Amino acid sequence: AGGYLSVRDLRVRFATEDGTVRAVDGLSFDLERGRTLGIVGESGSGKSVTNLTVLGLHDPRTTTVEGRILLDGQELIGAGERALERLRGNKMAMIFQDPLTALSPYYTVGRQIAEPYRKHTGATKRAARQRAIEMLAKVGIPHARRRVDDYPHQFSGGMRQRAMIAMALICDPDLLIADEPTTALDVTVQAQILDLLGDLQQEFGSAIILITHDLGVVANAADDLLVMYAGRAVERGTVREVLSAPQHPYTWGLLDSMPTLAGSVDTPLTPIPGAPPSLLAPPSGCPFHPRCAYAAVVGGDRCATERPALPPGRGAACHLGAERAGAVRRGGPDAV
Ligand code: SF4
Ligand code: MG
Repeated sequence: AGGYLSVRDLRVRFATEDGTVRAVDGLSFDLERGRTLGIVGESGSGKSVTNLTVLGLHDPRTTTVEGRILLDGQELIGAGERALERLRGNKMAMIFQDPLTALSPYYTVGRQIAEPYRKHTGATKRAARQRAIEMLAKVGIPHARRRVDDYPHQFSGGMRQRAMIAMALICDPDLLIADEPTTALDVTVQAQILDLLGDLQQEFGSAIILITHDLGVVANAADDLLVMYAGRAVERGTVREVLSAPQHPYTWGLLDSMPTLAGSVDTPLTPIPGAPPSLLAPPSGCPFHPRCAYAAVVGGDRCATERPALPPGRGAACHLGAERAGAVRRGGPDAV
């Protein structure tokens, strides 16, 4: 059962000199083809680790992975490096935040875009080059036939990100993972790149995971939303549901600290007090309780001792519950 990508009770731990880091602690979600899932959280929330694990790009010597990751019914946890290598590029591909770390300065853009295509299809150099030109044109690089022979430094930042998208999509992957794909770009180019991803999704029908710290990015570009905190999913729903009636105090904090989403420009922005917890020793109970202004509403020491569960489907991992959450969101901690 589940979606095209189905993640069940994923747990990822790293061994470090200081102890064991619980980077992902019991995460489940599903994703269908043709849909975009936004995964939002601060750095250290586990969102990037989750996706490196899906791609099998974690370091097996220091990382322990438990749970299930099914891609089109195939179990990825424990799949050999050779099988994962075949899937990467072919069935799943990734777009990184900084194209300069993914593109080599020593080869032309065209050669680097064509490389995965040759590897996965056995196409000739000539055919792969032709395909690279088509992909560059598709992602909106003008004069693709000429620009295909440029080196990465001859491209602007936005063009490099388009080239990365061309490289990721050249083998027509069913799952595309984009990790902060627009963070390094200015706002106008950001919007263009997100529009481009949406258009290409229409054409290719891929499932997309869009990882970002910026709720404004997912507001327009994603269908579904998963909010992560301290290695756990704390809220899930459609983007519309979460943004119009957020249920988790951490999501409120994210929203209220966002200039574009906090409402009118006169609304003062409120940063979330405190810092994300150390994942060497995660807090007991609700991981957000040391920063949460609403633990007193729940009462007793419940938030500090009892771990709230995330219900399947729409909901939040919070002891307030949806109804009380709505009331205190509107009226503050004294509303109930
Ligand atoms: Fe805050 Fe308690 Fe809800 Fe955690 S469970 S977010 S501490 S109210
Ligand atoms: Mg990251």
